Amino acid sequence: MEKLDKQLESQPKEVKFCARCVVSNQRPRITFGADGVCSACQYAWKKHHEINWEKRGRELVALCDKYRSKDGSFDVVVPGSGGKDSGYTAHILKTKYGMHPLVVTWAPFIYTDIGWKNFQNFVKSGFTTINCFPNGILHRKLARIAFELKGDAWEPFAFGQKAYAFNMAIKFGIPLIFYGENGEAEYGGSTKDADKSYETIENWEEVHFKGAGIDKLLRAGLKMGVFDENEIKDKTFDLYRQPPLPEIKKLGARMHWLSYYKKWVPQENFYYAQKHTSFAVNESGRSEGTYSKYASLDDKTDGFHFYLAFIKFGIGRATSDAAHEIRDGHITREEGAALVKRYDGEFPKKYFKEFLEYLDIDEKRFWGIIDSYRQPHLWERAGANGEWKLKHQIN
Ligand SMILES: [Zn+2]
Repeated sequence: MEKLDKQLESQPKEVKFCARCVVSNQRPRITFGADGVCSACQYAWKKHHEINWEKRGRELVALCDKYRSKDGSFDVVVPGSGGKDSGYTAHILKTKYGMHPLVVTWAPFIYTDIGWKNFQNFVKSGFTTINCFPNGILHRKLARIAFELKGDAWEPFAFGQKAYAFNMAIKFGIPLIFYGENGEAEYGGSTKDADKSYETIENWEEVHFKGAGIDKLLRAGLKMGVFDENEIKDKTFDLYRQPPLPEIKKLGARMHWLSYYKKWVPQENFYYAQKHTSFAVNESGRSEGTYSKYASLDDKTDGFHFYLAFIKFGIGRATSDAAHEIRDGHITREEGAALVKRYDGEFPKKYFKEFLEYLDIDEKRFWGIIDSYRQPHLWERAGANGEWKLKHQIN
């Protein structure tokens, strides 16, 4: 079957690393300036030196004043899992800005114990949430197709998480939606919306879905024989689709990023969520593939999303984490590079068995798919036993 990850077609064949952080030009949609500095570092510089945060803070107050309900009814939709970033976002909107958040959660594929505990603690700290667990047969099949054809089983989560907030906003008639950070600006990617407080939704497919949305996946699944004709007509899939534009426009629904209004520092969000929503870190230590203990903890399959990114782009989870911390001035580039060398691309073995069972594939098939995503300009068989090695690494 033809691969559906359109990002791979536009990958530059010559690998370059940012002069300031540890990210490379292989990250989708990232751009580099003439000085060799990546777009995320350029944005970070603005964030720390140029942006007038007091003014942005006043804009947030004005926005909340416009939408705040007088009778206590829900006035803002916050998509979130009870993790540190959504916990911070919902809590600060409620307590500092007097809003009444309805938190909507698109459930992880397989909750980790710590993820489920954090979610419950978040609810206990005073939030109403609506948690959607999509049809377990269809969701798994979709994950399997996404893994094979897009090299990322995580896609059905991305579709749902993105669309669910809008679907719930329409259902409850709440036009204001608040996300935490603008990931494209903060982690490197499209800078189109970096100076905007909200996201336009017309280009979702390109930016968030690797150039292939839910309907392309369903058709491919039908061809592969994973889905049958009846299954792909299931109404469950409406939850994975953004609502029709006329409905969004009629309500005036718009998704804002808190990171536009308030300086976004993941480490500070962690301390905040720990204090106010009883957020707890991974008891068993750091997450596989990186050195951090507090990000992306709630899903047993997360590690494979980051591992596949490492296979496709030669940069993994530790690169993302270290790059952000360098930009925030918490570590030096040298320290970041050492962390990348030590942890990037570590195989997520802890939940490997459960991941295979979830996708209903065997280990041989798994590795066949993994190897089919290794780009020849990034990988070579160079080890003593012919094992795969990256051709270019940060130094
Ligand atoms: Zn950079």
